Amino acid sequence: MTASPEQQLYDQLCKILSQYQDPTHITQIFQAYQFGAKHHAGQFRKSGEAYICHPLSVAISLAEMRMDVHGIMAAILHDVIEDTKVTKTDIHELFGEDVAELVDGVTKLTQLNCKTQAEAQAENVRKMCLAMAKDMRVIMVKLGDRLHNMRTLGVMRPDKKRRIAKETLDIYTPIANRLGMNDIRHQLESLCFEAMYPMRHRILKNAVKKARGNRKEIIETISNSLKTRLHQSHITCDVQGREKYLYSIYKKMLAKKLSFSDIFDVYAFRIQCHDVDTCYRVLGIVHNLFKPIPGKFKDYIALPKANGYQSLHTILIGPFGVPVEIQIRTHQMHRLSESGIAAHWLYKSDDEEYSNSKSPANEWVRDLLEIQKSAGNSLEFIDNLKIDLFPQEIFVFTPQGNIIKLPRNASVVDFAYAVHTDIGNSCVSARIDKRLVPLQTQLENGVTVEVITASWARPNPLWLNYVITTKARTGIRSYLKHFKQQEAINLGRRLLEKELLDMNKSLADITEQMQNQLLQAVKLDTLEDLLEEIGLGNKMPFLIAKQLNQDDISAAIKLEDTDSRKESPLIIKGTEGMVVTIAKCCRPIPGDPIVGYFNPGKGIVVHHHECHNSTDGRKKSTNWLEVEWSQDVTGDYPTEIRMELLNQPGTLATIASTISKMDSNIESVNLSAQDGRVSVDYITLTVKDRVHLATILRQLKKLFIVLKITRTRG
Ligand code: MN
Repeated sequence: MTASPEQQLYDQLCKILSQYQDPTHITQIFQAYQFGAKHHAGQFRKSGEAYICHPLSVAISLAEMRMDVHGIMAAILHDVIEDTKVTKTDIHELFGEDVAELVDGVTKLTQLNCKTQAEAQAENVRKMCLAMAKDMRVIMVKLGDRLHNMRTLGVMRPDKKRRIAKETLDIYTPIANRLGMNDIRHQLESLCFEAMYPMRHRILKNAVKKARGNRKEIIETISNSLKTRLHQSHITCDVQGREKYLYSIYKKMLAKKLSFSDIFDVYAFRIQCHDVDTCYRVLGIVHNLFKPIPGKFKDYIALPKANGYQSLHTILIGPFGVPVEIQIRTHQMHRLSESGIAAHWLYKSDDEEYSNSKSPANEWVRDLLEIQKSAGNSLEFIDNLKIDLFPQEIFVFTPQGNIIKLPRNASVVDFAYAVHTDIGNSCVSARIDKRLVPLQTQLENGVTVEVITASWARPNPLWLNYVITTKARTGIRSYLKHFKQQEAINLGRRLLEKELLDMNKSLADITEQMQNQLLQAVKLDTLEDLLEEIGLGNKMPFLIAKQLNQDDISAAIKLEDTDSRKESPLIIKGTEGMVVTIAKCCRPIPGDPIVGYFNPGKGIVVHHHECHNSTDGRKKSTNWLEVEWSQDVTGDYPTEIRMELLNQPGTLATIASTISKMDSNIESVNLSAQDGRVSVDYITLTVKDRVHLATILRQLKKLFIVLKITRTRG
């Protein structure tokens, strides 16, 4: 009786595993196989095989790369979340966190591919794949998955085959190339070539077959002369004839517009030796044996390729004048060039635990760093690789399926500005994968973000605390700047009107001629510019009003007489916005006596009348201004109180809840001194006005834990 196909595949897997895995691991893998087979039962591949044959085949490819036990288990289970009722939690419970994370990672990549069809985004999809796979084993399972899918395209419709092959060439072969996994890359490319151009593939394949026979003799002659000469020089190394891959022949024919014979009539050899010094000696010997073609020598040992590829390349003129292409490298360079990142599983014991700093991806990058160091050049390839493997970028989707690239830790606001400045300026919240989230939410790779906007919404200065992209930052700033400009103009108008009113005039009374004369005198273009200057405190409204009230403006310009100034205060309403700020030194609240100070470029700062900053400076500067709270002032004003409290558990909580019940917010609490019995705390809280503060203080005084309360002022 013959075994079922899945049994045969499992036996094949076990045979490879037994070469490098211990029996306990093989038992674990068997359990994963049984679990997978049970849940995929009743599902079939297009070829008619039981579904489990597919994950088993993926596992075999990875076992050939000496993948560790969890990676093999993940390969066997890689489709269960996507295609069966099994959840990540189930896998976690049965096979542990590591396997569950790997399977989940592969599932996410699979879903990612369904989401994006746009070809133009291939580069971003590739980066996204690498960014999403925190663990390189996820990428390897996915490559193994793709390899087997490509191998079993057979029964599919030609157009579908072509689409999958195109996607593979767009996304997966570049990733394999990036990771230096050339072996898997060549296999994928060759399968893609066959799927996309079956005719060309067949013709080329036959041509190669035919040519191979004719070439045998020449290859032997060249190979023998190489071997003999190297032996005479006492060098031990391997000399192998090398046949080009169909796809690279095809690509070369296309790119260089060459005929098949132009490319295939090159005889290629690879010489592997033990160390770098020998490589260069071998180079000298072969150049001595056959004449090298000028300009064809390339030293990738000293100047490695971006994925770490190292080798010496040269082309010689061989016997009968045929071109002979030679690659010379060490055994280790060869392994790295075939398996890349996977070389770290291939040639290392598997039972090391992977910590973040010791993952094969990191080790691989470290290897490349070594290569770069010993090569002694300053190529930037490591930087490029690091960006790919440990990306500082994330990729998220718009609801239409477009990909937006953002730096790591970007928020919803960054995304909104990345889509369009108008969306940024009017965003209020967002949905991430259909779930409602606040604006400061940090985005994760692969999510879909839908921004919710409102016509009344406008940028908030607080956003600047968490946005990280330049586009968002400048967007918010420029909006606020423009907004501040408007506020400054409005305040400037109020200030000027107030001064004019004291002279029994109003802006409407000022003739255009006088306006222009004044603007000329102060070197400004428009009335708005002048009002803005007044609002920002760069021009004194009193002086401007006085000038406007003079018949001869140019004479009035020199007037510095401020003694005759009649004071009627500016009314502070609390709605002036950014051009009126409350001084932090004394924190006045509505009801307190106040004075205003013109801070050039910024507007008016409101101080408490008794603030030492104001009493000290008031005599010296003309920038002080009478101000008064409006009857219907609005807003929350922070103020500070000092409390002596009984030092016992729960005291602060009681204070906090009392304050918040009184409709006030605590902004900060500072503990300044404390002994066994009493603690002294400074609390900053927001109030509407003095009456509000008094009510709060009264309530606090009622508490037995409060020994003394005072309001602090500067
Ligand atoms: Mn699969």
